[in-house]
Amino acid sequence: MRKSPEDWKLSRAPVCVLLTLAFTIAMVACSGKKAEAPEAGSQAAQKKASAQLNPASLPADSGPPRSIDASRAWKYTKEVTAFGARPVGSANHKKLEAYIHVHLKGIDVQDDDFVADTIEGKFPIHNILAKFPGTKDGIIVIAGHYDTNYPFRNNGYVGANDGGSSTGLLLELADQLRKEKPQGYAVWLLWSDGEEAMKDWTSTDSLYGTRHLAKVWEQDGTLKKIKAFIVEDMIGDADLNIERDQSSAPWLESVIYEAATRLGDQSHFFHRELNIEDDHTPFVQLGVPCADLIDFDYGYGNVFWHTPQDTMDKLSPQSLQIVGDVILETIRILNAMPAVPPK
Ligand SMILES: [Zn+2]
Repeated sequence: MRKSPEDWKLSRAPVCVLLTLAFTIAMVACSGKKAEAPEAGSQAAQKKASAQLNPASLPADSGPPRSIDASRAWKYTKEVTAFGARPVGSANHKKLEAYIHVHLKGIDVQDDDFVADTIEGKFPIHNILAKFPGTKDGIIVIAGHYDTNYPFRNNGYVGANDGGSSTGLLLELADQLRKEKPQGYAVWLLWSDGEEAMKDWTSTDSLYGTRHLAKVWEQDGTLKKIKAFIVEDMIGDADLNIERDQSSAPWLESVIYEAATRLGDQSHFFHRELNIEDDHTPFVQLGVPCADLIDFDYGYGNVFWHTPQDTMDKLSPQSLQIVGDVILETIRILNAMPAVPPK
């Protein structure tokens, strides 16, 4: 749907053109994430720019960074993708749930299970949460969805990047956190379910898992303890370009950009700004500091997205390496900051 080279130029287009294009973009939205180019010079854009952090205000680099095992993350992504289509309610989805649970044996795992009433009927939804306790108060959540698109359940779609890469990278992050316990805030890994729309992407037909979890955490008080909620989605693309998301917390994106810069990976981050609806959205709406790490330019003009062409040959272990390492470095900087969010 919405990401074409034309969109890229939107920030320099006159407002009337922007509005027309925004309308066109809204009209073509179907069965997928929603991403719109922001209006240049809007109040929100100005507020965002002023709220970005000066990297010099962040704690200094504290030694050699940690690094994920990208070949292992790649192997997990391949195994997850090999299950085939994994829409909610399917046998493959159940197999993948079991695969994730086996992987997390020995870790404090908590499932958030419920039945979603959708346009296609009632479906069981299973958010899977792995908790790694920290040494100070507060939680950093790293989330990624593991379901694949329901409308594309019978057309050979396997979602290597969209659903596969996010699941595989989280499994590798679990290995890293198992090896070296969090030195600072607790880290919770969330394999979110029902991210995809059952039919056409709307605020009620999408994000089933995270909409539910945000409510649960609002009621039980967890929400107040979350220092940062970071989503990774479609991050396996060999041509990696992570978007700047207008709904994400600017200060958190500044921390992420600084983490990327310290690793020499900044060229893959934040060249284009979009307003993206993804698993972070329900938490943004409840005031949680969020960031959405998504490459929404998957193939020229996003042509591989939500098609049977979303296969392993379009991905690269190097992209998993970059995003995984930047997440670990971001966690390290957040732990060293005197206050999160910064004062
Ligand atoms: Zn998708």
